[in-house]
Amino acid sequence: MARIAFIGLGNMGGGMAANLAKAGHDVRAFDLSAEALDRAKQAGCLPAASAEEAVAEAEAVVTMLPAGPHVRQVYHDAVAGKAPTSALLLDCSTIDVGSARAVAEGMEQLGYKMVDAPVSGGIAAAAGGTLTFMVGGSAEAFARAEPILQCMGKAVIHAGPSGSGQAAKICNNMLLGASMVATCEAFLLAKKLGLDPQTFFDISSVSSGQSWSMTSYCPLPGVGPETPADRGYQGGFAAGLMLKDLKLAIQAASDANASVPMGAEAMALYQAFANAGHAGLDFSGIIKMLGGEQG
Ligand code: NAD
Repeated sequence: MARIAFIGLGNMGGGMAANLAKAGHDVRAFDLSAEALDRAKQAGCLPAASAEEAVAEAEAVVTMLPAGPHVRQVYHDAVAGKAPTSALLLDCSTIDVGSARAVAEGMEQLGYKMVDAPVSGGIAAAAGGTLTFMVGGSAEAFARAEPILQCMGKAVIHAGPSGSGQAAKICNNMLLGASMVATCEAFLLAKKLGLDPQTFFDISSVSSGQSWSMTSYCPLPGVGPETPADRGYQGGFAAGLMLKDLKLAIQAASDANASVPMGAEAMALYQAFANAGHAGLDFSGIIKMLGGEQG
């Protein structure tokens, strides 16, 4: 079993670090939040006084941080030259492709191997060890990352060279944001046309309009499997995080000169939803705004 440093023990990282400890790894954990660090301790991790202390002598370093600037700062200040160069570096945060490539390039110049390994699946999947990892990096780095990521997920997929994991993640979430908005619109229109929502679900979920947003994450309470809609849109995947991912996708599209009108419209709608004070609600809650209830 390996000595693994884990930095960023928030909603996602807390559960992930706990699963590494449960698998028998020696997890040296650090977070700026004392509460998060305490929870990691309860879950079997060894709390470190600083990120530098956590990475010293590590065989692998896993980071699960909010955004690109945090990742750049942690690798620059606390990992580069502080962790042994033999340590494999795994950044699981969702960040922009440019930052992911720049950090990996900088660390590789110092002799480290690094992968970007963002995840699909929310807080429950992080806690349950059922995340999907999409991994960018060399074949050699991927081969070393795979057994570590398998302790935290149900699927580990090599997406391509450095930055490809982030590219896959933001394209997936752009599709998810647009499909959720479209699913909400379809339910709202169906209702206005006199269709019972359950009847529309029964038809569309086995017809060509079917999507994950409809069958696994239905935005209407009482229809389909239990989802955040049944809990007043609490928990789940926050609209603010969806907005973050859509912004990353639109920025990447602009850099790559790609046309993404549906993604741009989804971003504008989630921006309006967040501006109305609902960034903390689950992203399927946008049905309330689209239905004219708020926002
Ligand atoms: P979070 O805000 O709950 O956790 C981030 C943690 O990082 C916090 O505990 C914070 O204190 C810590 N942190 C920030 N800067 C630090 C530093 N310099 N050193 C040490 N710790 C530091 O966020 P989260 O929901 O766990 O999300 C983490 C990442 O995972 C984000 O990039 C997010 O987009 C992505 N993600 C989240 C979800 C989800 O459902 N929450 C799903 C998929 C991906």
